Amino acid sequence: MTDLKTKQLTVSYEKKEVIHQVDLALPVGKITSLIGPNGSGKSTLLKAVARILTPDNGAVLLDGTDIQRLDTRQVAQKLAILGQSSTLLTGLTVSEVVAYGRFPYLKGFAGLKENDYQLIQWALDATGLTELKERRLNALSGGQQQRVWIAMALAQDTDLLLLDEPITFLDPAHQLEILNLLTTIQQQGKTIFMTIHDLNQASRFSDYIIGMRGGEILMTGTPQEVFVPQQMARLFDIDAEFYTPENSQKPRILDYSLLPKGADAS
Ligand code: ADP
Repeated sequence: MTDLKTKQLTVSYEKKEVIHQVDLALPVGKITSLIGPNGSGKSTLLKAVARILTPDNGAVLLDGTDIQRLDTRQVAQKLAILGQSSTLLTGLTVSEVVAYGRFPYLKGFAGLKENDYQLIQWALDATGLTELKERRLNALSGGQQQRVWIAMALAQDTDLLLLDEPITFLDPAHQLEILNLLTTIQQQGKTIFMTIHDLNQASRFSDYIIGMRGGEILMTGTPQEVFVPQQMARLFDIDAEFYTPENSQKPRILDYSLLPKGADAS
């Protein structure tokens, strides 16, 4: 079980500080969603955690080791990141793209082994892509392509899966398919950390929520703790009304309106 923490993590683009002294301990074996307004630094935090960006100060610790001291292959064997999809691979077939997930495990120019093929097949099955495996990516719908990126990350067989907006642009049925798939993966023991804008889906499918604004973590807690009017006012400047379905601990937003500018959110 891979354990991921950040200590006083600070990240900038050129001189502009975007993440400010963030301390984070990701709950192991759970689904954690990162929410917050546009431009609050969610995507940047995810990239720093995946070692795509280098911090100015502080550190990302993977199983207690500063991620900057690990090489790319070591990082890729512990965490997979699924970002806004790459167009570079869209001429390849589904199984070719998913096979890329095994890249961190290949030694030199040695080819895929039996174990690699088994993991590729498992990833294709888990994402419902087996029947489409010979299709080229550019002949798939957006929802199907999204499943391919997830399959590629699954084939990487890491304890930790990071996803940047995995359901944005998907229709409601495909959103549920992806979120149900993430739940299945989590139940198999993986830790999932994602950014997500849909607050109801975040509440329904997450064990924990982290609320970020202006490069800082404003709140962490269960959906029940975070999805309350006062926290939504602090995070989004909205006045939100919630209800919680029977037999559920997961609040849903009924409706919301903008708070007057300058209103004291506390
Ligand atoms: P979020 O994911 O919460 O929308 P981002 O992490 O994408 O936020 O962006 C945080 C801030 O960093 C924004 O002000 C954005 O304009 C800026 N930013 C993001 N990427 C870059 C980049 N590559 N170069 C310079 N500034 C960037």
